[in-house]
Amino acid sequence: MKFIQNYIGGKLMKPSDDQYLNDYNPATGKVYGRIPDSDEHDVRAAVLAAEAAFPAWSQMPIEERSAILMRVSTLIEANLDRLAEAESIDNGKPVWLAKAVDIPRAAKNFHFYATAIQHFATEAHAMTNQAINYTLREPIGVVGCISPWNLPLYLFSWKIAPALAAGNCVVAKPSEVTPMTAFLLSEICIEAGLPAGVLNIVHGLGPKVGEAIVKHPKVKAISFTGGTKTGAHIASIAAPEFKKMSLELGGKNPNVIFADCDYEEMLKTTVRSSFANQGQICLCGSRVFVERSIYERFKKDFVAKVQKLTVGDPMAEETKVGAVVSQSHQEKILSYIALAKEEGGTILTGGHAVQLEGRCKDGYFVAPTVIEGLSHDCRTNQEEIFGPVVTIMPFDTEEEVLGYANSVRYGLSSTVWTTNINKATRMAQKLDAGIVWVNCWLLRDLRTPFGGVKDSGMGREGGFDALRFFTEPKNVCIKIKQD
Ligand code: NAD
Repeated sequence: MKFIQNYIGGKLMKPSDDQYLNDYNPATGKVYGRIPDSDEHDVRAAVLAAEAAFPAWSQMPIEERSAILMRVSTLIEANLDRLAEAESIDNGKPVWLAKAVDIPRAAKNFHFYATAIQHFATEAHAMTNQAINYTLREPIGVVGCISPWNLPLYLFSWKIAPALAAGNCVVAKPSEVTPMTAFLLSEICIEAGLPAGVLNIVHGLGPKVGEAIVKHPKVKAISFTGGTKTGAHIASIAAPEFKKMSLELGGKNPNVIFADCDYEEMLKTTVRSSFANQGQICLCGSRVFVERSIYERFKKDFVAKVQKLTVGDPMAEETKVGAVVSQSHQEKILSYIALAKEEGGTILTGGHAVQLEGRCKDGYFVAPTVIEGLSHDCRTNQEEIFGPVVTIMPFDTEEEVLGYANSVRYGLSSTVWTTNINKATRMAQKLDAGIVWVNCWLLRDLRTPFGGVKDSGMGREGGFDALRFFTEPKNVCIKIKQD
């Protein structure tokens, strides 16, 4: 049994009332660890530690701060195998995926912001013969970072790294469903020499620990990634207190395929954008719109490829689709498949839980599922499922597919497949989304703004946007006296 501890004031410690929650391995359905069931007392201790660390951390020369964050990055890389295995056990994702994507990206997040902070500049505005304005960007103080379970260390570090680089001290909470790599990160931070209290990680439930972070009067900004409903709840607490907020929320992303696309490239990528990480990436394209002239060909080829995806033990190299994150999530996904049938959908492949043999016989697996015959406005096509389930629908014109694509409350990402640059540009302009991928998917440049519109959230992460979020601008206007 693995025991996770909180990381407060530079030390690993038990929760104040010594209560624990179970940590499940979703591939086996078995409890394999215990997580602190922390409460507001632990959050208070973490905020006190962060406050105490803030003066020295915020005033440390940037090169020194950067060097410490770089050491964290190097240690994540050095622990690649251990962290990837831990991520796979905690989340159910194939271990090769964690090794190729999740953990390298977590190292990259620290590396990126350790260097970005050295190039972050502020503005100056000259008023001819009158004054010069310059804008300082000062760290906010103590900030809260709350992250979800789908890309645990990847998204946790995506918030923490810019917050720390900008000179803030952080109280962070990973998802209680996947806390293990955040715990391992706390050990890495100690080894890297991160000063005590600069980063504090409090484990536990959202409504208890997460909400205590959001409510704490000394926490001045909240960076949150998770569901839209949780985001709205957090905003209802933080907005009246005028806390800064960055909210990265749910999605129901369209994947628009025109007949003039590079077919083979599109097909290969569409399998990935539909089912990578068991479809549990906020950026997955779960609504696939296909121009009618290639619809039947696409349907046949796509289903054939999806049927070849091996659902299996996340530890096995040949596994393409691992376990979904929990039993309750498996039930949610299966309930949406049942809804799709009620709404008149036809299951082309999948549509059921998968029962494996041996070690994984009690794990939570769902067959990659493709559904057709649904209208764009039914619940299956409007609500986020967040699992290995996609719908496919034909369309005839650009205008028509734009109407379908934009009909949802979400607006996170979208994908367009066409070799016609004018069509791609027109679509990119008109799609309701924070991110449009043309002839690719999940191609990420960390300098670019990342986030969504509509109910997919507010604010942008990535690049200097995150450093702007984690700093407060202060304009200084100096009058120039003319002799
Ligand atoms: P969730 O909203 O249930 O939980 C996210 C985090 O918030 C967890 O750490 C949870 O403990 C915490 N939380 C829950 N209730 C809280 C409360 N009352 N106060 C404070 N914190 C609270 O989301 P999830 O199920 O972990 O993640 C899946 C969702 O995340 C999906 O909707 C997905 O689209 C979204 N997501 C969005 C992005 C993005 O970048 N936009 C990325 C990944 C996931």
